[in-house]
Amino acid sequence: MVVIRVLVSGACGSMGGYVCRAVDAAEDMTIAAAVDPAGIGHKLGEYMPDLSEDAQQIQVSGHLAATLQEAGPNVMIDFTAPAVVMSNIEAALSAGTACVVGTTGFSEIDLKTIQRMSESKGVACVIAPNFSIAANLMMKFAAEAVASFEYAEIIERHHEHKKDAPSGTAVRTAQIMAEAREGPLSVVPTERHNVEGSRGGALGNIPIHAVRMPGYVADQEVLLGSPGEILKISHETTSRECFIPGVMLAVRAVQALSGLTYGLDKLLTR
Ligand code: NAD
Repeated sequence: MVVIRVLVSGACGSMGGYVCRAVDAAEDMTIAAAVDPAGIGHKLGEYMPDLSEDAQQIQVSGHLAATLQEAGPNVMIDFTAPAVVMSNIEAALSAGTACVVGTTGFSEIDLKTIQRMSESKGVACVIAPNFSIAANLMMKFAAEAVASFEYAEIIERHHEHKKDAPSGTAVRTAQIMAEAREGPLSVVPTERHNVEGSRGGALGNIPIHAVRMPGYVADQEVLLGSPGEILKISHETTSRECFIPGVMLAVRAVQALSGLTYGLDKLLTR
């Protein structure tokens, strides 16, 4: 069996912890290195005493480029922050390491830049704003339903530490819904805004409303309206474990891909 050597970028973060445990537990993967400036001088085992003996001994590095050279991983998994992810991807692709990226907050220009880098280096990159399989099904069902409605809005609800708004999932959902329609949706006009922004952020003709508060992990509701009825397609996350099967699927697939693959839906339909 070929064992995939994985570098975990953002290893000491919330998602990084789930990723390290899943990679460590997978028979066909091993943690080749862990990078996170917050963990410099510490071993992975100090954060995750439940890891295997070997994984516990891995020193957390703060220098991605040097660690890529030393460890020679096949795949980097990145769950870090919007401010650092572009340079992490560039470093990994330049080192010949394929990327699986869950960090959110990419602009259209960022994605085009990654596509160019990935093609020119001949190393693949998978980016998914949501690695949950159920959330991707929610997007698929919303895209299927949107042809039968004139009005749609998205409400997304996340924990209080989320740095960007709206969520990458909400943006991706709106994009997929817009692509699935022949013509644009309608938006109810508002004559007077008593509070600026209260109709949400508009992406195309789909208003998006972002809620941030403790208690939520990552939920989303797509509302589709017609006279006399509303269809609600909703997805609730109860634990961040839900992202792991999608991440593992991408890690197993990425080395056989080329260029940028954006969205887990592309891998689910293969
Ligand atoms: P977090 O803040 O708990 O963890 C981020 C970690 O990255 C921190 O430990 C931080 O020290 C580390 N970090 C910062 N700069 C770094 C760098 N240059 N190199 C390596 N590590 C660095 O955040 P989180 O909740 O784990 O989420 C991380 C990202 O993943 C966010 O953008 C979030 O929106 C996204 N996310 C995506 C999905 C998905 O399915 N795509 C799911 C959950 C979270």
